[in-house]
Amino acid sequence: MDQDTAARTTLIRSASDAGSKVFATILTRSPISRIDIARHTGLSQAAVTKAVSPLVAAGLVDAPPVTQRDGNPGRPAAPVSIVPDAMVMLGIKVNVDELIAVATDLATDVLVSQRRSLPSHDPETVCDAIVDVVNALEAGLGDKAAAIAGIGIAVSGDVDTSTGIVRESAIMGWSDVPLGDRLQERLPWPVTLENDVHALTVGEHWFGIGLGMASFAIVTIGRGIGSGLHLNGQVVTGAFGVSGEIGHLPLASPERVCACGRHGCVEAVAATPAIEAAVSAAHGRAVDIDEAVRLAHSGDPSAEAAFQEAARIIGTAIATLVNLAGPELVIIGGEGVSNFDLFEQTLRGAFDEHAFGAAAHCRIVTRPHTFQDWARGAAAAAIQSLVR
Ligand SMILES: [Zn+2]
Repeated sequence: MDQDTAARTTLIRSASDAGSKVFATILTRSPISRIDIARHTGLSQAAVTKAVSPLVAAGLVDAPPVTQRDGNPGRPAAPVSIVPDAMVMLGIKVNVDELIAVATDLATDVLVSQRRSLPSHDPETVCDAIVDVVNALEAGLGDKAAAIAGIGIAVSGDVDTSTGIVRESAIMGWSDVPLGDRLQERLPWPVTLENDVHALTVGEHWFGIGLGMASFAIVTIGRGIGSGLHLNGQVVTGAFGVSGEIGHLPLASPERVCACGRHGCVEAVAATPAIEAAVSAAHGRAVDIDEAVRLAHSGDPSAEAAFQEAARIIGTAIATLVNLAGPELVIIGGEGVSNFDLFEQTLRGAFDEHAFGAAAHCRIVTRPHTFQDWARGAAAAAIQSLVR
């Protein structure tokens, strides 16, 4: 980290509450006038001007020069903008079989990307692979590597961001893995560990479809069923870092055993492995998800039934989430979105059946997140941890 980056990091970390709000507002809504910053943050224009000056001095924010001739020293109407390349963030999504890694600027635009396959889920092996991919990103950045200010790591499961411990990740087969500490020992930049769907939610809130929205939820379908909730301007993490685990709502028959070891979870019916198991059992041989999709599209009754059962329970889980938290929009993402035609009608039917009263007005849209979007979410989580 060069001197400028270190000074910028210190400035953001030590900012007052007002300073953090102003920086986050410029970060996500750039270019924006000081008047609009004041409107968004609820601060006075004088407080905004005071908060903007050190950001400009540090090279994080661009503002038109103030000249005497304007006769209006604050020039409140002139827009200020973020300097995207003032800092570089690394974001890594830990998938079941590979790492997807990106280096981004402060707007989470991707500068360099890398992939690494994971030969095993042994935490030491995964740490080695993360360090290796970070080194490759650093090399790919060249001179820009001096501006790296932090690394975000997104992992599926119950992740304690404050301690950097993965408490439970069924997909990785981990419990109480101190991944954050292990990586911090080996990497010179601050490491932020975050639940992958929460990271994606931060990315959508700051730089995506959720910008400017008071409340929204992301529901991901695929190998796992996850959700992230954004309410009243904040991503909801809950007192224990666990929130929005709709994949483990007990809405299925107790006979269905989940990968987490519990009975009757949504994932035990609706996640990719459950769909594969149901179609495999019906055909008396191993059927993977791609073949299950082909079979369902060609009218195979067992495959159609497996997707409809999954769709019904996901729709019910989304209605449960919406009845409890009341978001105005639900964004369905995850790899299952590529076959959403197999889910849509039944899912929307189950949602309509169980959504209570006006909660039925909640819009449900799909968004085909790529794994790179998840990695950008990890980078956004690293930026967020800096701004906090
Ligand atoms: Zn479960």
